[in-house]
Amino acid sequence: MTETDPKPPVSEGNEKAARGDKASPGKYVYDGRTPPINIFLHWCKACNICIAFCPKKVLEPDREGKPTLAHPEKCTQCAICWLHCPDFAITSNYK
Ligand code: SF4
Ligand code: SF4
Repeated sequence: MTETDPKPPVSEGNEKAARGDKASPGKYVYDGRTPPINIFLHWCKACNICIAFCPKKVLEPDREGKPTLAHPEKCTQCAICWLHCPDFAITSNYK
């Protein structure tokens, strides 16, 4: 590509995402009702890997050491928690 070539087309969705619009396609936004993830506590062995690895500190331990959704609005659907859970006890409600 030379300097005179036009820029490649940018989709409207990508432009919105670049601006940080909440309605951008593909960007997860907590709606206040459906939790971002499901935690199957009967499968959970309270290893706390999900709590330690969550980059947004969404999860906090309950009295048994099992994760609770303390800050669901901070979840970015990064997938770290459900990909690292050794007991497959976490799933996403959006992916
Ligand atoms: S998907 Fe990412 S941000 Fe959301 S709870 Fe799991 S590790 Fe935290
Ligand atoms: S990583 Fe899985 S088993 Fe460990 S505390 Fe989290 S949900 Fe429970």
